[in-house]
Amino acid sequence: MTSPEHHGRAEVVVDVAAIRHNVATLKRAVGEPRMMTVVKADGYGHGIVESARAAREGGADWLGVAVMEEALALRAAGDTGPILTWLTVPGERYEACLEAGVDVTAYTVAELDAIAMTARDIGVPARVQLKVDTGLSRGGSTLDLWPGLVEAAAAAEESGAVRVTGVWSHFACSDEPKHPANDEQEQAFLAALQTVEAVGIEPEVVHLANSAAALLRPSSRFDLVRCGIASYGLTPAPDEASSDDLGLVPAMTVRGRLALVKRVRAGSGVSYGHTYVTARDTTVGVVPMGYGDGVPRHASSRAEVLVAGLRRPVLGRVCMDQIVVDLGDDDVATGDEVVLVGDGRDGAPTAQDWADACGTISYEIVTRMGARQPGRMPRVHIDSDRTDDDREDTA
Ligand SMILES: *Cc1c(COP(=O)(O)O)cnc(C)c1O
Repeated sequence: MTSPEHHGRAEVVVDVAAIRHNVATLKRAVGEPRMMTVVKADGYGHGIVESARAAREGGADWLGVAVMEEALALRAAGDTGPILTWLTVPGERYEACLEAGVDVTAYTVAELDAIAMTARDIGVPARVQLKVDTGLSRGGSTLDLWPGLVEAAAAAEESGAVRVTGVWSHFACSDEPKHPANDEQEQAFLAALQTVEAVGIEPEVVHLANSAAALLRPSSRFDLVRCGIASYGLTPAPDEASSDDLGLVPAMTVRGRLALVKRVRAGSGVSYGHTYVTARDTTVGVVPMGYGDGVPRHASSRAEVLVAGLRRPVLGRVCMDQIVVDLGDDDVATGDEVVLVGDGRDGAPTAQDWADACGTISYEIVTRMGARQPGRMPRVHIDSDRTDDDREDTA
């Protein structure tokens, strides 16, 4: 299953069947509420269009993305269902999203005014969701400014320029279910909803939960949950449950072939800076992937890869295009397969293992290793529910 053009040198393989399965599993886990699959940042490195299609097949009622260009890419690919976007700066033009029936989010009265003005210009009522900041101190209206935003939205709705389709917020600490901020944010959200109700706005959906909250905090599910990372098969709360515990299957594999295998003597410094020196004669393997391919430099002398059925440590620094691994005295040859990230079933490290080794989260591992660059690691999509003939090279 290697890509002929690249002789399997290095590639990212995404199994869309895993995404389809995960979305269906998440839907069963949350029950009634509707499912939004978050496909921002190129589907967390898995491919926005392919991930969205698999998510819809798995039962996603909504898709969520950060910026408007991402929503338009989904429309261009033929998606006609509900989509929400939530990040703009002043001066961005809303026409295309409003004409395409994409829901946009307002954090401020200024944003709401810009959206309503565009809607009047083009003669199409805008579908707007209002975001309240219940404690993340990131996007959204502060609680102080919330009544003003809600009143402005009621007036804009009255005028026919907008339809308020949703009211929502976002957790700061949902991966730590016992953190007191979770209760505080949920209470603040309930109070913010009363303000909305008081002016007669009746949104289609109110929502608060991301993956971790959707799975671990049933009281936060409201009408809809916004699941990103879990849709790709990775646990949103590694201290609470593994992806296996949650019935999730990691969709991304990162693999390639050893560019060179050779013996080096005891006392050899390995890679830049000689931060690692061999303690004995050993066989090293050169892996043709580095930080230019999204392999974190923080993995230097910390992460492991799978070669010939065993985990092998990364020796010394991760370079831009290459890493060196220790093969001991094993019978491994130049050209043999190396798996950096796997689904955990064949012994290969998972994205969570890489995150643990590098002091980060699995989100960053898959988003960066899955990112596309000309001439580098092609990303191919397979569908293990169907045949291998469905495999498309989408680099
Ligand atoms: C990215 C994002 C999500 C998805 O979060 P996960 O932890 O990946 O489930 C949900 N809501 C908002 C606002 C986001 O930015």
